[in-house]
Amino acid sequence: MEGRVYPSRLLLLDWYDHYARELPWRENPEPWPVLLSEFILQQTKMEVGLGYWKKMYKRFPTLHEMSISTLEEVMLLWQGCGYYARARNLHKLSVIISSRDPPIIPSDPKELEKLPGIGPYTSAAIASISFEVPIAAVDGNVKRIFSRLNAIEHPNSTDVQEWANISLDENRPGDWNQALMELGAIVCTPRAPKCNSCPVSENCKARFTDDPAKYPASKRRSSTKVNGHALVISSPEGIVLSQRKGSQLGGLWGVPITEDPNGLEALCIDHKIHSPEKVGEIHHAFSHRDFHLQVWKVDVLKGGIRSDSVPISRLDQRILDAAGCGES
Ligand code: SF4
Repeated sequence: MEGRVYPSRLLLLDWYDHYARELPWRENPEPWPVLLSEFILQQTKMEVGLGYWKKMYKRFPTLHEMSISTLEEVMLLWQGCGYYARARNLHKLSVIISSRDPPIIPSDPKELEKLPGIGPYTSAAIASISFEVPIAAVDGNVKRIFSRLNAIEHPNSTDVQEWANISLDENRPGDWNQALMELGAIVCTPRAPKCNSCPVSENCKARFTDDPAKYPASKRRSSTKVNGHALVISSPEGIVLSQRKGSQLGGLWGVPITEDPNGLEALCIDHKIHSPEKVGEIHHAFSHRDFHLQVWKVDVLKGGIRSDSVPISRLDQRILDAAGCGES
C-alpha cells in the first residue's frame, strides 16, 4: 500500500510499555481471562466493563466453572451490561469447549471463529494476546487510527485490514494489537484526540488539518421509534414477570410490554386486570430502537416474583423504578 502512513513500531510499543493501563488480564494473558475481557469489551466501555470482568472472573475463574453453571446465573451476573447475546454465547462456548478432549480454548484463529460469539476481530485478539499468533486484530480503534494517520474520511474495510497486516509487529503481535487499541482508547479518541501526547503524531496527516476528529466521517445511525406501554402488576408477593424471547433481551425477565401505542387495553385483558394507573414515562434507547413507553401500575392481591431473584434488563429496571417497585 504505497503512500500510506504506518505507525512506528518502536515508538508505539515503547509508549505502550510505559503508558498502557494496568488491567488484570494483561498481567497474565491466559486464554480464559482474555476471552472474557474481549466478550465484555466488545460493546461495553472499559470503565463499566472492568467491573463486570472482575465480577465474572471471580465467580468463574475457569471456563469449566462457567460450563457447569446455569445460563440464568451467567445472565444474572451480566445484568445491566447490555447486549445479552454476548452472555448467552459465552455460556454456550464454555459448554462446547468443556465437552472437548482436551477442553482447551483453541489458539488457531480459524478454530476460534467457529465458536459462538467470536468473529474475526475477537479471534485475532485472543490468538495474538494469549498465544502470540502473528495476526492483526482490527476494531473501531484501529480503523480510526488508520483513517487519521492517512486523512481518509471513508476508510474501506479491505484497506484497513491490509494496512493493519502490514503494520503488525510479528515479534510482539499481542502487545502490538493492544497498543493500537490502547492508543485509540486513550489518546486518539473519537471526539478529542490528544495529538500533543500521541507517540505516532509525527507523520499523521489528520493532525495537520483543522479538525483531526472529523476522520473518519461519522455514519448516521437510523433507529426505529417504538411507542408503547409497560404494565407493572404488583402484589405483596412480588411483580408479574416473565422470561423474554428474542435476540436482544432473550433469557432476561421483564414486565408485560406492548409495542402498539393503542395496545394497552389488550395488554390489560391478557393479564386479567383493569384500571391501571399511569405512573410515568420512560425513554430507553437500544442501538437500533428507541423505546418511548408509558408506564402503568396496578396492585393485585397475589402473584408475581421478587424482581431481584431473576436477571432483568436495564429497560425493565427503569420501568420498575418509574413504578416505585425498583426492589421487591
Ligand atoms: S496525531 Fe492525533 S489524530 Fe493523529 S493518530 Fe495521534 S492522536 Fe490521532
